Amino acid sequence: MVNWIFVTGGVLSGLGKGLTSASIAKLLQSRGYKVTPIKCDGYLNVDPGTMNPVEHGEVFVQSDGGEVDMDFGHYERFLNIKTKFKWNLTSGKVFKEVIEKEREGEFLGQTVQMIPHVTDEVKKRLRNIAEEEGSEIVIVEIGGTVGDMENQLFLEATRQMESEENSIHIHLTLVPYLETVGEQKTKPTQHSVKELRELGLKPDIIIGRSKEKLDESTKEKISLFCDVGKENVVSNPDINNIYKLPLIMKEEGIDEQVSSLLDLDNSKESGMSRWEKLVENLESPDKKVEIGICGKYTGMNDSYASIEEALKHAGAGLKTGVETELISTENIDERIEKLKEKDGIIIPGGFGTRGVDGKIKVAEFCRENKIPLLGICFGMQMMVVEYARNVCGLQDANSTEIDGDAGEKVVKIMDGQKSISSKGGTMRLGSYKSSVKDGTYLQEIYGKEVVTERHRHRFEVNPEYHSVLEENGLIISGTSKNGLLAEFIEIEDHPFYIGTQAHPEFKSYFERPNPLYKEFLKVSGRD
Ligand code: GLN
Repeated sequence: MVNWIFVTGGVLSGLGKGLTSASIAKLLQSRGYKVTPIKCDGYLNVDPGTMNPVEHGEVFVQSDGGEVDMDFGHYERFLNIKTKFKWNLTSGKVFKEVIEKEREGEFLGQTVQMIPHVTDEVKKRLRNIAEEEGSEIVIVEIGGTVGDMENQLFLEATRQMESEENSIHIHLTLVPYLETVGEQKTKPTQHSVKELRELGLKPDIIIGRSKEKLDESTKEKISLFCDVGKENVVSNPDINNIYKLPLIMKEEGIDEQVSSLLDLDNSKESGMSRWEKLVENLESPDKKVEIGICGKYTGMNDSYASIEEALKHAGAGLKTGVETELISTENIDERIEKLKEKDGIIIPGGFGTRGVDGKIKVAEFCRENKIPLLGICFGMQMMVVEYARNVCGLQDANSTEIDGDAGEKVVKIMDGQKSISSKGGTMRLGSYKSSVKDGTYLQEIYGKEVVTERHRHRFEVNPEYHSVLEENGLIISGTSKNGLLAEFIEIEDHPFYIGTQAHPEFKSYFERPNPLYKEFLKVSGRD
């Protein structure tokens, strides 16, 4: 039998529903259950692939090539699993399917309506996933806030399923602390639950996002006014390290409460000792390493979320604390010497021309000053442009993404991508295998002949330039399986100068750090 947990949020967005869901899922997984996370997003985009990362946060890339909400990053990193594109339902995806079915005549004679046609499509998709995955527990996070017009559809499907299935409803709300009266206030929570009730939904567990843990009196009030047992009011306080959240929620007894409400086998003990040890490593590290991330999306922390997390995973394994600083590459000239204060530099992925000259300068500076440098995707492409210009002497080298008429097109769009005019999901996306060259640093790092990482790009190092780059000392340490595309580069006589066309940060887990990030951090931390 499948057990369902529906998670909604109230009062505000950005309370951390994804992290909360991932934490609960982790605790249940650690009790031995097969847990599948699903996220429903109300927006009309089919997927978030074309959204601005500053507005929406990073786009997470799945192994099957899905471009999904960044909460999937949390699910993967916490649960140590590969999620699938279908596990992200968006209004766009659901409507598209219903409209296509209508055109194909599937509903002949009927008036196609939100209820039941669209809600049925949602329910069908949720149940299909549970069946395909053989899930024991499915945790469905409904994006947005209760009361938003966009997610009404998913909430109605939830309402129906709650009476049809063995399920519970968890509601996450904000419990603000009012300085003037020195008290945690429960009114916003009461209002949010009222709003849920109007939709026919009733929470079984209320999780209060607050500065500090909820006071006993706050829990009592929420219990009384919102009609849930006091033991089912759970704290979710501000924390400096997201990986602590499952441990805090375990202390609050959430896994016991979920088990008992769903009538699961309560005798199963959760095995979180390894996780606890890793959290401890981050809390009391042996050393601290400072990494500069040199990109253009410096306006919002979530833009490079997976990179930040991959560094933390590496840090937890190495008992090394990591501090990152987002450094804008626009007008970097006057600040370039400051890069020497960092232990290592990452040039992350990116699109378009803004801040590009700065990225090329950062690559040059790190190469010449032997500062550990990891170039991700666009970062690697800029490392190649820099190398072509300054080492191979190809002054006019550029990527055609930046200058379509460049004299030396060392990075160019792949032929297969040229004719594509649609922008959604048309890149080289998802997991690809690379062959690793013998005797390279890359081979030492991964200890493998074939490395699988995830990709998200349209442009490639132009194969016509491989030989001139190699003659001048650039080592193409990993290629696509057919040998045509450069997937990893490195140079000799440098502590760490590696670029990859892939995004290894999408395959990094708290309990299983990515080897490339781990090595990068290790080298950056050397005295
Ligand atoms: N804009 C580059 C491309 O499309 C790099 C993309 C990225 O960094 N993810 O190839």
